[in-house]
Amino acid sequence: MNIILLGPPGSGKGTQSSHLAKKYSLNHLSTGDVLRSEIVSGSKLGKEASKYMNEGNLVPDEVIIGMVSQKLSAIDSVLLDGFPRTLNQAKALDNELSNLSKTINHVLYFNVPSEELIQRLSQRLSCRNCPNTFTKSENNPSCKSDSSCEEQELYQREDDKPEAISIRMKNYTDLTEPLLNFYKEKNLMTNIDANKSIAEVSEQIDKIIHI
Ligand SMILES: [Zn+2]
Repeated sequence: MNIILLGPPGSGKGTQSSHLAKKYSLNHLSTGDVLRSEIVSGSKLGKEASKYMNEGNLVPDEVIIGMVSQKLSAIDSVLLDGFPRTLNQAKALDNELSNLSKTINHVLYFNVPSEELIQRLSQRLSCRNCPNTFTKSENNPSCKSDSSCEEQELYQREDDKPEAISIRMKNYTDLTEPLLNFYKEKNLMTNIDANKSIAEVSEQIDKIIHI
């Protein structure tokens, strides 16, 4: 089974995807996480990508497509999170999958009102060591509560800062509209009401996927 999760930054698809990948034995491929690990390692791709991401801009298609194609050929079933982001990427993905005799089974779109998204993102803290994210609060959350991670200090990602958020939102909407239509025409798209609790969102997804 191959699934695509679509949704703006802060829509909660990151949280749902780790849960989904485990539950349905899918390989979770988050282009954001892969890019960030390239940045931390200081690779050539990482340096190029960080230039765009720090300004709240998207990393160019050809960089992302190359990276995803390489991963897809090595795995069986995939949960794509953060990819495709543009119509161009979606078409490239279609080609790549048909070369591998694979198809997409579901595209889930995480729908959240934009005021709610901006509120969520500006309160978000991330771990440098793993994909966990937390909400700012008085009792200073740390990642150590999750036994598999030893990181004490959390930070606010450059692209979660207010000036970058509004650029990200605008980029997202402009690029995603044609993408949503592309999958609607293929009858693959389902809207998820993501302005709900984690459990409620997860329940909606299970109803759609049920194997
Ligand atoms: Zn961590």
